Amino acid sequence: MGKRVIIIGSGAGGLSSAILLAKKGYQVTVLEKNSTFGGRGSVFSAQGFQFDMGPSWYLMPDIFEHYFDLIGEDIKAHLTLKRLDPSYKIWFGEQKEPVAMTSDLQRDSIIFESYEPGVMKNIKIYLEEAAAKYKVSKNTFIYKPFNTVFDFIDRKTIFLWTKFSVISSFHKHIAHFVKHPILRKILQYPLVFLGTSPYKAPAVYSLMNHIDFEMGVYYPMGGMTKVFEALYRIALKNGVEFLFDTPVEKILVKEKVVTGVKTTQGQEYIADIVISNADYHHTEMNLLEKPNRQFSKRYWESRSLAPSGFIIYLGLKKQYDTLVHHNLYFTDKWKESFEAIFDHTELPENPSYYVCAPSKTDPTVAPEGCENLFVLVPTSTGLNLDDKTIKAYRDKTLSHLRQTMDLPGLEENIVYERIFTGHDFASMYNAFKGTALGLAQNLTQTAVFRPKTKSSKVANLYYVGANTNPGIGVPMCLISAQIVFKRIHGIRHGRPLDAYDTKF
Ligand SMILES: Cc1cc2nc3c(=O)[nH]c(=O)nc-3n(C[C@H](O)[C@H](O)[C@H](O)COP(=O)(O)OP(=O)(O)OC[C@H]3O[C@@H](n4cnc5c(N)ncnc54)[C@H](O)[C@@H]3O)c2cc1C
Repeated sequence: MGKRVIIIGSGAGGLSSAILLAKKGYQVTVLEKNSTFGGRGSVFSAQGFQFDMGPSWYLMPDIFEHYFDLIGEDIKAHLTLKRLDPSYKIWFGEQKEPVAMTSDLQRDSIIFESYEPGVMKNIKIYLEEAAAKYKVSKNTFIYKPFNTVFDFIDRKTIFLWTKFSVISSFHKHIAHFVKHPILRKILQYPLVFLGTSPYKAPAVYSLMNHIDFEMGVYYPMGGMTKVFEALYRIALKNGVEFLFDTPVEKILVKEKVVTGVKTTQGQEYIADIVISNADYHHTEMNLLEKPNRQFSKRYWESRSLAPSGFIIYLGLKKQYDTLVHHNLYFTDKWKESFEAIFDHTELPENPSYYVCAPSKTDPTVAPEGCENLFVLVPTSTGLNLDDKTIKAYRDKTLSHLRQTMDLPGLEENIVYERIFTGHDFASMYNAFKGTALGLAQNLTQTAVFRPKTKSSKVANLYYVGANTNPGIGVPMCLISAQIVFKRIHGIRHGRPLDAYDTKF
């Protein structure tokens, strides 16, 4: 009989670690507070519309493929991926005409050159460096458990640190290559995927531009939910047990060794190993007794959190030709807009925002002739919004959107609407101060500085997901699961806690 494992939470990290362990004979039970799987990757349907609640960009297809290969599944049997063309369209505060980016450098270079003649020479060098950073990082850095600072000083990682500009400011790094403010914005925006600001992130993250410009943007037909459905299906096939509507109230510990968990219904589940996929802060501060916590209240208060979000899910009885699948608006108050998110606690006055229209690619997510919109305004965390403020901000956002993206009659064509704010992130996922993504991925919260996947206080207690290594995003959570798996199974079976594993 394999060891008993309890996983708290069925987000990307919870599902993918459940599969890895179940395939090696561990008896895995996932306890989830909500009534379904997916966590931030949940989905809901209303009036014929299907809304992915969180992730909408399928990036880093190589990381997904690698995970599915590891677990012996053919990704093509589970997901039908479509490469988006254009990848996305951007509107700017300072000019009327939007630009469409394609992740095809030859086509994109026409746009770059129109803003700054001759800039492609520099952008090519910048992207070559970004590609090299991605390659080196993937093969060493992001699959590392970061037990100690010594993880920083193997040969390949030292190469990364010394050959490239890695820890200088991302913003300054870009300024070195491009001058035009619009081009700088285009190169800086992917940092929102990491929940940080270009003014606070390290230059190593220029690798995001390789992902964006050279690897392409994909969409799994049927919605991002298909990724989570696939993981759930594979977990069930491998014998993982799921208990939904089962919030964990306490992690049980005896003499510094984990013994199981207790749910809010008073039920105790005995386990040899507990993995928490719930937010790190929630796990530490609410599920563990004080002597078993690794971090103090002061530690958490001093963390930089990724933004929260003001999200409007809209079902429209009309389609709009100006929109593509991914649409972005970049404000002309660029630096101030990041300060409003990271340095103040208020709704941003002049925000950049994102509109996803998956019905442009996928007829199954909206009734015929209708449009499915996901409008996301990143905001600061810790907001306490009353109904009047929410209504006013919703009106302001939709009015701006109508004018900017040329959507006449937008408000009159709404047939379904739901608003989701930081308060909902906190109540639905136990997210600290309503953060949408977790701990921001700035220099002091990356790699060895990020809370670890293994507790230093309690034996056999592990953490998986966006708040631990390597970080934010669905592909990163799949890697997080591999790190946890190797810590648990690798140690027991003499496998090296090495970086990129090609065998399972
Ligand atoms: C709006 C938004 C847009 C995003 N866009 C993208 C994108 O385009 N591409 C991308 O790759 N990523 C995106 N992300 C990030 C990505 O969705 C997350 O990084 C990832 O899904 C987080 O997974 P996780 O494993 O950390 O678990 P989570 O999704 O955080 O799940 C944790 C689970 O634990 C459960 N839980 C919490 N407390 C308890 C408890 N006490 N007992 C039992 N269960 C509990 C929660 O209910 C939840 O189901 C986005 C996220 C959001 C919110």
